[in-house]
Amino acid sequence: MSIRNNIEGLQQELKSQKVTLIAVSKTKSNEDILEAYEAGQRLFGENMVQELVAKQESLPKDIEWHLIGHLQSNKVKYIAPFIAMIQSVDSLNLLKEINKHGAKNNRVIDCLLQVHIADEEAKFGFDHAELIEVLRDEALSDLKNIRIRGLMGIATNTDNEKHIKEEFYELKMLFDGIKVSFFRKEDSFDTLSMGMSSDYTIAIEQGSTMIRVGSTVFGKRVIKHFKASEG
Ligand SMILES: *Cc1c(COP(=O)(O)O)cnc(C)c1O
Repeated sequence: MSIRNNIEGLQQELKSQKVTLIAVSKTKSNEDILEAYEAGQRLFGENMVQELVAKQESLPKDIEWHLIGHLQSNKVKYIAPFIAMIQSVDSLNLLKEINKHGAKNNRVIDCLLQVHIADEEAKFGFDHAELIEVLRDEALSDLKNIRIRGLMGIATNTDNEKHIKEEFYELKMLFDGIKVSFFRKEDSFDTLSMGMSSDYTIAIEQGSTMIRVGSTVFGKRVIKHFKASEG
C-alpha cells in the first residue's frame, strides 16, 4: 500500500463520522509528507520541536501542524509563530508560556490539555485532580492568547481491547463533564483527541473527534525513534 492509498482509505473510513485525521509524520521524510499532502492531507502531527520547525520551513505553508509530544517551556518560542494546535499541554506554567508567545506573535494558540489515562508511568499528562485544579485557577481567564479546545489522551499500549476501551470511555466522560462545568458557553471546546494506529477504531466508538495516526499512514517507524520523546 502506498501512502496515498493509506490516506484515501482512512479518509473514506472517516467520511461518515465527524472525526478529524492527524497524520503523524514524526521521523518521516518531507517526501513522504508530500505524498500524503498530494492525497489531500493537510493536518500533520509531530512530537519534536526541532524536527517540526525544520519541516514547517521547507513544506507547503497551508499545512496545519499539531504538536503532539511533550513540550518544554523554553521551546515554545520556536513554534508559536505557526503552530495550529498544541495537543500536549500538561501544566499551567506551560499554558502561561504559550500565552506569552501567542501574544508576542499576535495570535491565539489552540491547545488541548493532555490527560494521563494509561497505566504506564512514562506517559505525560494531568491526572483528574490536577486538571480540575488548573481549570479552576483564576489565572486561566487572563490568558487571552490561548484557547483550550479540548483534551488529548494516549491509551495503554496493550492488546487488551477491553482495557483500552475503558480508558477511552473514562476520558470521554471527563471531557463531557469538563465541557458542562467549565466550557458550557464555549462552542470551541469541541476536540477530544484520542486514538492512534492500533486503537483508533475503539477510540471512535468511544467518542473521539480527532485521531492521530502514524504507522497506518506512513508505515512503521525505525525502532530507535519509537519512544516517548522530548519536544
Ligand atoms: C507517535 C504518536 C502517535 C501515532 O502513533 P502510531 O501508532 O504510529 O499511529 C499518536 N500520538 C502520539 C502522541 C504519538 O507520539
